[in-house]
Amino acid sequence: MIHLILHVLVPAGAAYLFYRDNWLKAWAMLATGIILDVDHLFAVPLYDPDRCSIGFHFLHTYPAIAVYVILLSIPKVRTFAWGFLIHMVLDYIACL
Ligand SMILES: [Zn+2]
Repeated sequence: MIHLILHVLVPAGAAYLFYRDNWLKAWAMLATGIILDVDHLFAVPLYDPDRCSIGFHFLHTYPAIAVYVILLSIPKVRTFAWGFLIHMVLDYIACL
């Protein structure tokens, strides 16, 4: 539950810090990182609090993360890519 709240609040904080002129729009774009959790729907069981998402779900693997980093170089999708990377960092912290 706290984890889900972080997935909404951390993008809000990042949007406010880095996109202050347009933070509401930036927040919406960064928060779309949450959709990466659709890959959990393919996992059995759907949710396991003791399981680390990173490296398990296919949108949370290192090759997927490499793609998000590459997306940072494309201006049109850069904000979304940051949202995806924020998501990975939050999930990674949750694993510790
Ligand atoms: Zn996740």
